[in-house]
Amino acid sequence: MAGLRIEIRGTVQGVGFRPWVARLARRNEVTGAVWNDARGVRIEAFGLEVQLERFLEELRRDSLPSARIVELRETEIAERAASTFVIGASDGAGDKVLSIPPDLATCSDCERELHDAADRRYRYAFTNCTSCGPRFTIATGIPYDRALTTMAAFKMCSECQREFEDIDDRRFHAQPNACPKCGPSLRLVAMGGRVMMARDPLLATTKLLAEGAIVAIKGLGGFHLACDATNEHAIASLRERKRRDEKPFAVMVANLSEAESVAELSEAERALLTSPERPIVLVRRRAGLAISDQVSLDTPFLGLFLPYTPLHHLLLEMVDGPLVMTSANVSEEPICRDDEEARRRLDGIADALLLHDREIAMRCDDSVARVIAGVPTLLRRSRGFVPRPFLLEHSIAEPILACGAHLKNTFCIAAEDMAYFGPHIGDLETVAALDFFEEAVERMQDILSIRPTILAHDLHPAYLSTRYALSRNEVRHVGVQHHHAHVVSAMAEHGRSGPVLGLAFDGTGLGDDGTSWGGEFLLCFAGYFERLATFRPLRLPGGNVAMKEIWRVAYALLHDSYDGRPPIESMDVFESVPKESQRLVGQMLERDLNAPAAHGVGRYFDAFGALGLGRPSASYEAQVAIAWDFAATPDHRQAYPFEMDEAQTPTEIDLRPTARAAVEDLLSGLDKGIVSARFHNTIVDASVAIVERLLGARGDMPVVLTGGVFHNSKLSAGIAHKLANKYEVLRHSKVPAGDGGIALGQALIADAILGDKG
Ligand code: ZN
Ligand code: ZN
Ligand code: FE
Repeated sequence: MAGLRIEIRGTVQGVGFRPWVARLARRNEVTGAVWNDARGVRIEAFGLEVQLERFLEELRRDSLPSARIVELRETEIAERAASTFVIGASDGAGDKVLSIPPDLATCSDCERELHDAADRRYRYAFTNCTSCGPRFTIATGIPYDRALTTMAAFKMCSECQREFEDIDDRRFHAQPNACPKCGPSLRLVAMGGRVMMARDPLLATTKLLAEGAIVAIKGLGGFHLACDATNEHAIASLRERKRRDEKPFAVMVANLSEAESVAELSEAERALLTSPERPIVLVRRRAGLAISDQVSLDTPFLGLFLPYTPLHHLLLEMVDGPLVMTSANVSEEPICRDDEEARRRLDGIADALLLHDREIAMRCDDSVARVIAGVPTLLRRSRGFVPRPFLLEHSIAEPILACGAHLKNTFCIAAEDMAYFGPHIGDLETVAALDFFEEAVERMQDILSIRPTILAHDLHPAYLSTRYALSRNEVRHVGVQHHHAHVVSAMAEHGRSGPVLGLAFDGTGLGDDGTSWGGEFLLCFAGYFERLATFRPLRLPGGNVAMKEIWRVAYALLHDSYDGRPPIESMDVFESVPKESQRLVGQMLERDLNAPAAHGVGRYFDAFGALGLGRPSASYEAQVAIAWDFAATPDHRQAYPFEMDEAQTPTEIDLRPTARAAVEDLLSGLDKGIVSARFHNTIVDASVAIVERLLGARGDMPVVLTGGVFHNSKLSAGIAHKLANKYEVLRHSKVPAGDGGIALGQALIADAILGDKG
């Protein structure tokens, strides 16, 4: 006989982990106990050595879909007499759930009950159990007990209570447990606030949607705006009312076979779509679909997701077709959370509201994922993932709040050897977004019981996240360079401490020389970086306005490439641009006035995309750059010339020869798809050439690909493929490559910098 103490960390509380452990133990005739403690779950197990070994092996191998083990440690202890295996015994935190799990998509057992006419939860929109349902979005504090969730308002009926107390029941300690008798209920409300009398609010919603209406639907972490995805007219009016310019809308379909019918899915994409986190997955749409092209302009991709609440399941079955389900907000403001707010902010956008009486404690937008060159990658990490922690390689000295970037903001709180991302906040450009940021920071600090004493922030003084950090003067501040943070985020994901050569390609980010960076080759450690190479800067005539009026960047590229005599007249893109504006831009460039330099690879995508596609403006960040990506002819192998200017420090990649060759091709009438492919191949070749030159001089080290430009799969695949036989290439997967992933790097850099000084 022997004894083992097993300590498990990760998402193991509030997900049915202890009953699962108890079942494994009993199956292996192991005795002892399992309970939650402050750091996760602790097990003491006794039995024959062979039984303990099998138990341990099954713990490691068999996964509980709703749980995520990040660390499992075992130590031998003295054998003790125990007759059974029990849950939540004796000491420590006992039964209290001290860490809150993420929201989990409806499990298959609950889905079955939903469709079982004999079940007491038949067609009940709030069915959940220990392995599924709301968690983070209903938590108002810790420990995670019903009293500290927005389910506190509902008193469990005797049947629900019995399930809740029965160790062998699927709903043992399922805090949001509910049924039609005692739980939340639906109601359909007109925009004026009048409750629309309907015996079945879902059926009435279905009818409205079939008529082409836009209905705001209260979900898990906020409201969605829903409309029929096959109805051009409904989608056009949604675009107009939501002022969403031309950004793609996400589409929800009833199940995987519906998804197969609208998109070509790989195995990895199927796995993402059906995962308990249920992100929106960007997948290649099939041609000739009923789904309107208006849903996703400019891209052959569709943001697709499957139902993740019982309400979604019921709704999608009843409408019997795809639904647009987009975050309910105006432009980039935060997603709506409470009923009153929805009524106010969605006035003039939605035709009706499908509400329920379970409050949302915490906003949490849908997550977005895509398989990029074979690697499942999170583009936005939010609902389903937050607040699941990352285990760090080493403990940090003091608790840190990293405030993130400006666009696609996400913050991160780190303490000891764990880092927790907050929910997706969005672009920090409005007061509403800043309010949400501050509220979310407070809430996360509370539920994690962490009081950061250090604030890490971007170097850019005008970012609202920076201003927020500097306004809190009770703590220490550390400014972190944007691209250094990108690289260190990726390093952390792979548990590396450096040195690495980081390729940080994005649109913008303030460099420590005061210029805008974004085509960087950085030698990185956590606390230190050296800028070894970059792209020759482009001028942005008029400054920020050139982000949307991308013809200005195209003009600047030509001006630079043709020594001040750009062939403006012959390029289509300038046709619709007023002559006066062109003249002003020409002057700015000649006199070097109001035309700041920018190294971002994203700016080159804008410039070449504008020239190649003849599109003078983008309605949102990277719109034309993305269209340029998708325009490329697959498998075309040729590239354009480029130069490497080693007289500069750092070394510069000079794309002026590339621009001249592309212009020649375009003027000769060559297919723009070929021009795009050659442009992509050139960026790949130039990047690989620089990496080989730099590492040839410095010796091998891993190469990190990071920054939003690496959401471009041709670039990721091209560079990774060409480097892979010589170097180890590290790419993002669980932490977004774009600005949504930057906060983790900020936290680790702040810790390293302060650690060095102290
Ligand atoms: Zn369930
Ligand atoms: Zn009940
Ligand atoms: Fe960035």
